[in-house]
Amino acid sequence: MTQDSFKALLLTEENGVTGAALQDIAADALPEGDVLVRVSYSSLNYKDGLAVTGKGKVVRRFPMVPGIDLAGVVESSDAADFAPGEAVVLTGWGVGEAHWGGYAQMARVKSQWLTQLPEGLSLEQAMAIGTAGLTAMLCVTALEEHGLDATAGPVLVSGAGGGVGSVAVALLSALGYPVTAVTGRSVLHDYLRGLGAQDILPRDSLARAAKPLESETWAGAVDTVGGQTLATVLSQMRYGSAVAACGLAGGVKLETTVFPFILRGAALLGIDSVHCPQPRRQQAWSRLAHDLPKDRLAAMTEKIILADVPAMAQAILKGQVRGRLVVDVNASANIA
Ligand code: NDP
Repeated sequence: MTQDSFKALLLTEENGVTGAALQDIAADALPEGDVLVRVSYSSLNYKDGLAVTGKGKVVRRFPMVPGIDLAGVVESSDAADFAPGEAVVLTGWGVGEAHWGGYAQMARVKSQWLTQLPEGLSLEQAMAIGTAGLTAMLCVTALEEHGLDATAGPVLVSGAGGGVGSVAVALLSALGYPVTAVTGRSVLHDYLRGLGAQDILPRDSLARAAKPLESETWAGAVDTVGGQTLATVLSQMRYGSAVAACGLAGGVKLETTVFPFILRGAALLGIDSVHCPQPRRQQAWSRLAHDLPKDRLAAMTEKIILADVPAMAQAILKGQVRGRLVVDVNASANIA
């Protein structure tokens, strides 16, 4: 990186095909914004996989620097609430989709998208959490606001081996909830038990046609999978309980009946992290800094470099990534 240029992963599109390449970008090419951030880390989420591979219509303009998350230090600021030297975190708000994002050594963004790095977290830990961890926390908060407590019974987490799922398992178990983790990967059983799962179910036990109502099993659920899995989970919810639905890794269609809602008073709580308002976001980050055990966060996290992102983007869409990937945007043989 020089004063005039920085390294970034740049997405381009030709004839409908997305290409990704590491490039030197002129500093004056950065988009508009009132805060310039020297990026330390980003992360790789499912949505980044969709963006980088072009398999989902996530990127709204090209060329685009993807990366929906970033953490770094303010380099310069026209905003009263952020000063040079301050450590900041950004997730969502369309960054990495419509506005250049975190797979770069520099980012210029709007101050209203930034959150101060919560006390008790390093920049690297903040990106180990990233959008996935924030979403897991928002799911847990929504379930608790609906009335879930640790004495209510088992709480299900689907897609447990992924990013949102791993953080949800670790968080819920640290808070005292008995967690049942659902995974399609039998090799992850020990890993999930290490994060705190009490029980493990194979993915196939839920990704199948369900009866309108099955036996009342779950006191709460975090669903990252959607599709048939979510329909089955709904049919198994206990009276008055809730599912926090945040994902689509298993499908976007939801074919269910009204019975779980009208006969068991079950609730389906939708979770969005992208436009989550700042006060709720800050509350979630403070809770993450406090409630998510750092050793479990470390156990679910691997570090990669910018050059690894295209291959890992393919891998995450195939359900082959375990836990969380932090991207060190400054570490590479090619990056000075
Ligand atoms: P990951 O790829 O890390 O995790 C998804 C997990 O789902 C996989 O690891 C796998 O877990 C499971 N899975 C994958 N494919 C299937 C399938 N076909 N059927 C059933 N299970 C499957 O992604 P993230 O954790 O980053 O994101 C999870 C989901 O949440 C994504 O759909 C993402 O778009 C969504 N999301 C939504 C947010 C929001 O604001 N609403 C924010 C963040 C994420 P295993 O192998 O253990 O079964």
